[in-house]
Amino acid sequence: MTSPSFSGHAHQPHPHAPSPAEVPLRHDWALPEVRALYELPLLELVYRAQSVHRAVWKENKVQLCSLLSIKTGGCSEDCGYCPQAARYDTGVKAEKLMAVPEVLDAAKKAREAGATRFCMGAAWREVKDGPQFDQVLDMVRGVKSLGMEACCTLGMVTDSQAQRLKAAGLDAYNHNLDTSEQHYGEIITTRTYDDRLKTLERVRNAGIGVCCGGIIGLGESIDDRCQLLVTLANQAHHPESVPVNALVPVEGTPLQQNQRVDALDMVRTIAVARILMPASMVRLSAGRQQMSDEAQLLCMLAGANSVFFGEKLLTTGNPEFAQDMALFAKAGVKPLEPNVDRPLSQ
Ligand code: SF4
Repeated sequence: MTSPSFSGHAHQPHPHAPSPAEVPLRHDWALPEVRALYELPLLELVYRAQSVHRAVWKENKVQLCSLLSIKTGGCSEDCGYCPQAARYDTGVKAEKLMAVPEVLDAAKKAREAGATRFCMGAAWREVKDGPQFDQVLDMVRGVKSLGMEACCTLGMVTDSQAQRLKAAGLDAYNHNLDTSEQHYGEIITTRTYDDRLKTLERVRNAGIGVCCGGIIGLGESIDDRCQLLVTLANQAHHPESVPVNALVPVEGTPLQQNQRVDALDMVRTIAVARILMPASMVRLSAGRQQMSDEAQLLCMLAGANSVFFGEKLLTTGNPEFAQDMALFAKAGVKPLEPNVDRPLSQ
């Protein structure tokens, strides 16, 4: 189905997106046409992606997000890339859920460093009702009171849990599809692709923004990569947020020997994501720290309009944080300002 413009379409662009533009939101992409886009000469692909990007995101700003692991390690799932899976010997120790004040301290630091979105991740298969979930709801309320966008990634959720997260003020829920349905079984066996789609539906039904993307470098084919993007774009509503990650192979995980992703493959994936989902925030996520300045800028030219700071990157004085800031300054990249409707002095 093709809609002529954003106006009149059920899916609303991200609140920071400028006024509606005449870029169609399509939900009927076919694999061959997406593959043909992916295989365009690189500069032609980047040009097309940048044209779509600038038609929609006229201010051309980049959102800084911060990701905090609020509950690390000990996960019962078997995601082949993940050092937090209890079954792999990666040196990551299982920790308890962080206390609310600690999380809010980290959120404040992130805000001071310029982040406008705070993402909290727990290494759980699924959310369980009880004191721990109540604690997470308090974290969401606390992050909202700081005037930041709040996002969580907690594994699978039920309808009522999604509704409670929404009531607490959650803006977005992250649950990645990771890869194509065809390749998925090679990476994860402890839950199905369909389980993931159901969680996304529950999040959507609760009125929470959907953050859903994938990882490249999982041993997938180009078709798998394109099929993931087709699956995302052909949902009734495009995810508001699409993180594109490059595998960072971790010793002890089944994918430890995988070859590093070529930065230009990231550029292509981001460009195609931008063309397929013009109004979504496309987030250059894991793997960014391994990329050169030039490759990161090429990703932004291809339509990435958000980057993540890891929690350790948030302290000013940290060399990687300083490097990020220097890159933004050198290239004149404008970060998205904090939400001015909410006071930042709390
Ligand atoms: S569910 Fe999340 S934390 Fe658990 S193994 Fe998979 S990616 Fe890692």
